[in-house]
Amino acid sequence: MNLSDIKTIESLLHKNGFSFKKSLGQNFLIDSTVCPRMAEMACDQETGVLEIGPGIGVLTAELSRVAKKVVAIELDERLKKILPETLKECNNVQVIFGDAMKLDLEKIIKENFSDCEKVSVCANLPYYITSPIIMMLLESRLPIDNITVMVQLEAAERICAEVGTRESGAVTAAVSYYAEKEILFEVSRKSFMPSPNVDSAVIKLSILKEPPISVDDEKKFFRLVKACFAQRRKTLVNTVSNTLNIEKNKLREALKMLELPETVRGEQLNLEQLGKLSDLI
Ligand code: SAM
Repeated sequence: MNLSDIKTIESLLHKNGFSFKKSLGQNFLIDSTVCPRMAEMACDQETGVLEIGPGIGVLTAELSRVAKKVVAIELDERLKKILPETLKECNNVQVIFGDAMKLDLEKIIKENFSDCEKVSVCANLPYYITSPIIMMLLESRLPIDNITVMVQLEAAERICAEVGTRESGAVTAAVSYYAEKEILFEVSRKSFMPSPNVDSAVIKLSILKEPPISVDDEKKFFRLVKACFAQRRKTLVNTVSNTLNIEKNKLREALKMLELPETVRGEQLNLEQLGKLSDLI
């Protein structure tokens, strides 16, 4: 079954009375070139792949071809009727119905991938929870090698920006603490059904064994990062003192020690400077 073919998809969905739910970020891929590329770049024959949101299984089938095993987590129970049909030839795939944000992913990985050399997460992510899913995967320090996912182009550019540039945001600094990041390729909005209003991109986050900087208190570091970007137009002193309730003079002193001007904005600090500032306050 060609799961990228519009007519095949329409007849499959019609037969099962399925209609797209925008609230679940359901934009299915209809471009036959995208999934093979994603699969090849995410995994190999020794990899166990965790997929989030298989939809009708277009990416799942490609991952099944390239990887050792695939576990796909899907929230929409209406797909219980469709996925067994579309994936019937994929013997190394297991589908779990549930919310990827709530399931015990560590347990799922342990139970399914103990015989795999490495684990990847690969997905065409539902856009409404892109950052929360990525941050959950990183913060829970799952034993994964890489996260190779499709996200909105704007989110891809933000996540993969260099920390300390105008394009960066809190998510840039947070992701950079855990992973090396790159945009693999862009995908046109026309490659989806229904077509969203924006283009997309596939990004790869290669998980680092150790963070690139060391900080005394990770929680404090991430609170500072969030505060730095809370009010982008304000100076760091103003936004951080408002958000974290820290005396302005204390912040000015810390900036002086880092040889940074007191007018600096949060987005202008690189990862190392953010880490040092967090230790100082
Ligand atoms: N992989 C398919 C494709 O590329 O055509 C579908 C991708 S679609 C952008 C996102 C999928 O994620 C949908 O199937 C949706 O039902 C599912 N989904 C949404 N929220 C989810 C969640 N919290 N946990 C697991 N799956 C979710």
